[in-house]
Amino acid sequence: MPESQQKGEKSYRGIPVSAGVCRGKILVLGRPRPSVTERQLLPSDLAEEVNRLEKALVQTRQQILEVQRKVSEGMGAQEAGIFDAHLLVLEDRTLLDEVVRVIQEKKVNAEHAWHSVAERYAATLSAIEDEYLRERAADMRDVTTRVLNNLLGVEEAAELRHLKEPCIIVSHALTPSTTAQLDKRKVLGFVTDVGSRTSHTAIMARSLRIPAIVGLKDASAQLESGQYALLDGLNGVLVVNPTDQTLFEYGQLILRQANLQQRLHDLLHEPAVTLDGHRVLLNANIEQAADSEQVKANGADGVGLFRTEYLFLNREHLPGEEQQYEDYRAAAAALKPLPVVIRTLDLGGDKFLAHMQLPTELNPFLGWRAIRISLQERDIFRAQLRAILRASAEGNIRMMYPMISGLEELKQANALLEEYKAELRNENIPFDEHLEVGAMIETPSAAMVADALAKRVKFFSIGTNDLIQYSLAVDRMNEKIAHLYEPTHPAIVRLIKTTVDAAHRQKVRVTVCGEMAGDPVLAPLLLGLDVDELSAAPSLVPSLKFLIRRLKLSEAHELAAFALDCESASEILGRCQELTHTIAPTLFEST
Ligand code: PEP
Ligand code: MG
Repeated sequence: MPESQQKGEKSYRGIPVSAGVCRGKILVLGRPRPSVTERQLLPSDLAEEVNRLEKALVQTRQQILEVQRKVSEGMGAQEAGIFDAHLLVLEDRTLLDEVVRVIQEKKVNAEHAWHSVAERYAATLSAIEDEYLRERAADMRDVTTRVLNNLLGVEEAAELRHLKEPCIIVSHALTPSTTAQLDKRKVLGFVTDVGSRTSHTAIMARSLRIPAIVGLKDASAQLESGQYALLDGLNGVLVVNPTDQTLFEYGQLILRQANLQQRLHDLLHEPAVTLDGHRVLLNANIEQAADSEQVKANGADGVGLFRTEYLFLNREHLPGEEQQYEDYRAAAAALKPLPVVIRTLDLGGDKFLAHMQLPTELNPFLGWRAIRISLQERDIFRAQLRAILRASAEGNIRMMYPMISGLEELKQANALLEEYKAELRNENIPFDEHLEVGAMIETPSAAMVADALAKRVKFFSIGTNDLIQYSLAVDRMNEKIAHLYEPTHPAIVRLIKTTVDAAHRQKVRVTVCGEMAGDPVLAPLLLGLDVDELSAAPSLVPSLKFLIRRLKLSEAHELAAFALDCESASEILGRCQELTHTIAPTLFEST
């Protein structure tokens, strides 16, 4: 990838949120918040002031519904759903009552009352150590600005609607409403100082297929409208005043990417079969039913990991049986007859619930996590298992438990499952009597007793993200020791092989669903270790398929035999790179 060293050229690095490369003139947007001043009112004016606020709220509601309608037509229902959160702000009685109270008690103008109360709410949300809640603060500020604009009679985002020429938008932040109004023909890409991968603006950029980078710190203060720049949304780099050499290198990169994308697309409906005829099932990891679209769009064979905790995070109350049933059923129905492997709740570690008082632990990854919570919090487990069982009547559902560390946990979980099945039978509620149950192998202890576990399940899914951190005693979140987090460590290679062999002796299938499975360099090693299926982020599936169709299983076996005999992680990695770069060079030329 080109880097900036040459005179005049300057690079800014941020978080890549929407892939693609574009180049053009920069347009730096000013901060969109209107200024608000406080005015003291006479008691006789207060009723009219409240009336003015109510009118502005109604007007705002109509505007949001209109934006929602346009987004729904242009991008789809899922993206339009983002604006439901905005409408909810306008219906928040606590907020509205407080604003009215401030107008009446302090005898101030509606703009000032609205701004001070809403800003306090948003500030509280943005101070919370939770990415999702911080994004809700952005939603709140988006609505607040609209209401203020309506109170002040200001037309918003005029700059964006009257773009004269195609440009790269640079802004401190872009709200979802502003993003929704971007004229795709005029906006080449955008970058913002703040934001995260999960911000709604980032989600919309991906939907619109506009290259975008967020988290560029103070770029909007440093850049000027009219500067020429190149935006690389894949690697998260904005190059201002690119030299001819940089432009040439990126030109080549764009050609290679387009070429590869076309070749990947051509394989969409082809199976992942090695050159010597071995069929590999390539599944996708999802976090919500809506991701099913991505599973199909990327030609996956099913869902290998449905991380259900995302249904529990980011909301004020625990989702009940009904709500979970709806989501699991929706995924199963959308993908039927493809299988959907639902993982029971994996809370704890780095995933906390704001509304569930999880204790502060010295070592949360070694603490109250995953199946350990489920086995103690029976109501939560019962609701989830009943929801999964009920949904199993509607599609090809399988289920697995996370972080099993020994046989006892598996036995207990299975016993509870039988209890809930009996309940459903008594209630005449249908479910799949043959629902397949699996265990995740994420701890060294589970790998070592895989033979015992294999007798009680239909499949294993190796969670290498955790297996690596627990086996090598390397916290997967700690950047300081990231160099020690080695998927090709001989211990990991051997633990995977031990697990696979134990499973196969009992005719139990093995999937790998950690990030290792989605790395095309490492996938052949896993297949050589006789792993049956791989499961990775939907967008990684096409590259894996491309690679597998150029691989011979015999080569993978040779690679694995070398790895099992080798004492060095870097030598194993070197061999993996050598093989994959030889059989599929195109895959590695485009980054
Ligand atoms: C894993 O540990 O590899 C895994 C797939 O689970 P998670 O990343 O959700 O912990
Ligand atoms: Mg895990």
